[in-house]
Amino acid sequence: MPAPATSGNPVSATILPQSAAQGAHAARLAGAGALHYTDARGPLLPCKSKGDPMARRKKLYEGKAKILYEGPEPGTLVQYFKDDATAFNAEKRATIEGKGVLNNRLSEFFMTGLANIGVPNHFIKRLNMREQLIRQVEIIPLEVIVRNFAAGSMAKRLGMEEGTPLPRPIVEFSYKDDALGDPLVPEEYVIAFGWATQQDLDDIVALALRVNDFMSGVMFGVGIKLVDFKIEIGRIWDNDYMRLIVADEISPDSCRLWDIETGQKLDKDVFRRDLGSLTDAYTEVARRLGVLPTNVTHAPKPTLIN
Ligand code: C5P
Repeated sequence: MPAPATSGNPVSATILPQSAAQGAHAARLAGAGALHYTDARGPLLPCKSKGDPMARRKKLYEGKAKILYEGPEPGTLVQYFKDDATAFNAEKRATIEGKGVLNNRLSEFFMTGLANIGVPNHFIKRLNMREQLIRQVEIIPLEVIVRNFAAGSMAKRLGMEEGTPLPRPIVEFSYKDDALGDPLVPEEYVIAFGWATQQDLDDIVALALRVNDFMSGVMFGVGIKLVDFKIEIGRIWDNDYMRLIVADEISPDSCRLWDIETGQKLDKDVFRRDLGSLTDAYTEVARRLGVLPTNVTHAPKPTLIN
């Protein structure tokens, strides 16, 4: 079986090693298509008019829902949350006013809570309505999905009724590649293609289950069932010592959240399945968690932090 193409990855495999051990590891990952937030291929923002703050910092990567900019310190990035929503591998698209503001707040809430119980993650601090300062990581090219109840692709694949409780939380991996539609991959592939080692995988599963315990409890406390979610994991380096941390975002874009009483969907399925207002659904999650920003408005441009 050929190694899956890496060309579909939104960020190239450029790795910037800081030590010999790190370099060797990075080189292996580069060959296997690891993503890197520090990738230098992203174009410099075009030099716009003098005084335009957008012209003064470097955009490193633009994804479907977020933009990453160079951070103020080495090892940091600024993560900007857009209002864009996409589904079915970007076949369905819309701009949903206020979504970015809500996800910025919600991801801050979950990441801060995780840090408080000792689950390492990339969040440093929120900068403004749409931006947060994060640690720069080398993203492992996997979507790590945890499921508590059958739904979505699992329900379809196995012919299960959505909402069927699973015997225990199930962790699965998809290979991050838009062109391939993020295919589900067994652990065997992950190790054989060098995306992660067996030890990494053990650590990733342990991290994912801790995130699941925390998120399930927090959501249950506000009358919401955590059906499933996706996280991404990144590597950070302390000299020669590598650690895995939770990265990307945790928000209703990447979770299935159902009201415990009514079964009402409060996540991106509202958009995927045309079930009403996505902003209303995310606002309800934020309201219940007490993290509703005072003023959800559309800010078309990110704000500079320095
Ligand atoms: O579609 P599927 O059932 O596999 O999704 C499982 C979980 O992973 C859902 O919570 C979904 O929102 C999330 N997910 C995601 N990004 C993807 C694919 C799935 O956040 N690209």
